[in-house]
Amino acid sequence: MSSLFPALTGDVGDAGDRPALRFGDRVMTYTELAAAAASVADRIRTASRIAVWATPTLETAVATVGALAAGVAAVPLNPKSGDKELGHILTDSAPDAVLTDPGAELPAPLTDLPRIDVDIHATGPALGDDADDAAPALIVYTSGTTGPPKGAVIPRRAIAATLDALADAWQWTGDDVLVHGLPLFHVHGLVLGILGPLRRGGSVRHLGRFSPEGVARELSTGATMLFGVPTMYHRIAEALPTDPELVKALAGARLLVSGSAALPVHDHERIAAATGRRVIERYGMTETLMNTSVRADSEARPGTVGVPLPGVELRLVEDDGTPIEAYDGESVGEIQVRGPNLFTEYLNRPDATAAAFTADGWFRTGDMAVRAPDGYVRIVGRKATDLIKSGGYKIGAGEIENALLEHPGVREAAVTGEPDPDLGERIVAWIVPADPQSPPGVDELADHVARRLAPHKRPRVVHHLDALPRNDMGKIMKRALHA
Ligand code: ATP
Ligand code: MG
Repeated sequence: MSSLFPALTGDVGDAGDRPALRFGDRVMTYTELAAAAASVADRIRTASRIAVWATPTLETAVATVGALAAGVAAVPLNPKSGDKELGHILTDSAPDAVLTDPGAELPAPLTDLPRIDVDIHATGPALGDDADDAAPALIVYTSGTTGPPKGAVIPRRAIAATLDALADAWQWTGDDVLVHGLPLFHVHGLVLGILGPLRRGGSVRHLGRFSPEGVARELSTGATMLFGVPTMYHRIAEALPTDPELVKALAGARLLVSGSAALPVHDHERIAAATGRRVIERYGMTETLMNTSVRADSEARPGTVGVPLPGVELRLVEDDGTPIEAYDGESVGEIQVRGPNLFTEYLNRPDATAAAFTADGWFRTGDMAVRAPDGYVRIVGRKATDLIKSGGYKIGAGEIENALLEHPGVREAAVTGEPDPDLGERIVAWIVPADPQSPPGVDELADHVARRLAPHKRPRVVHHLDALPRNDMGKIMKRALHA
């Protein structure tokens, strides 16, 4: 048992006056955060589980730190969820009460639950940190990209393990100041973006709402790193040609990190060309926290998610369960992982939990990848939605999407497979055209992909859309794509 946040529990003496969190113009020092979180911990100590109304506010951060300190499992709720999803999560997780910022208006499914308003000025007895490392710390619902969200039970030790592995990979220290523009109800924004800097004794500046201008402002006034999802880097890539301040700010950043979904190569290259900086990609899941990352001291290669983090065992496995030994950049297998970063179970879903692990304890990620000779992992796509079996080939949607995005007439692209009497499956491209008046047609895009990749990878059908269906992390919801 060890402290998750040494800077909050007294082991780091001089951190007290330093800013821990800033949301808009509201700032909290380490001393203030420790006091307010202690008050939360004190008020919820007898609960067995607590919901957190996870608006992008100081209160959400205080609530989460308080729950962790009290050893009460916290269930972050997405304030944008509809009543049906909220109802499902509340029934499933059965919290004793909900922690919220005082200004929040809670929707119907939450009104029956005792409400505890977080007071960021409150004080409590010294912040303890006395929970068991194996005890559930967070119950985070998956993004629901491939089906209804499942509650992943995340133990304290997984949080500590993943944050320390990232500190090693990213040379992440208490001197780092993070620019944060992500929501706080998923692992990316909450565990990496809030708990990460707090574990290191560094600080967070949350933008409230992401904007390239906000990123430029913070990075040019002392912030050192940026965590984002690919849609944010896409907006940055689009803004760079007309925003010299943004170019300068990114060029001066210590670390630019992307995750939660694949960063299109086209956006990676545009940012590199304009700023001289390469965005580092890391790969993780709600269930596993972080698995791989490009290391800060090594080369960022577009389209790859780097190497397994310290402590994480990673293997690629064929459909029949045979591990792939080859590091040849070609042999595609499912990523399976083992390590202290893993969740313990899906809440109330023993069936799903059992199905997710092999007999010898490897977690089946459902993501398909290849490995280069030097160990760099390149994700090909999800087994369920991104692997197209066409004409005897197994084709990953991701590389076709990357190729389509290089076409000047394509703004956004998603690729799926649909049944075909001759090919088994045929490749279908869903694109948002750059100019809706003259969208590129199927022949032009098929030629473009065939020339860049291979003829059997060309799309046979093209649909034009105004926008791709995305969830609140900007992930493309392929199951919502229907002709
Ligand atoms: P659900 O499990 O409910 O369908 P989800 O899998 O999107 O939703 P998360 O746990 O938030 O929920 O996301 C994890 C997934 O995100 C990974 O399995 C992987 O497919 C994808 N992912 C995360 N980081 C990357 C990355 N750098 N490159 C490609 N894919 C990524
Ligand atoms: Mg998933």
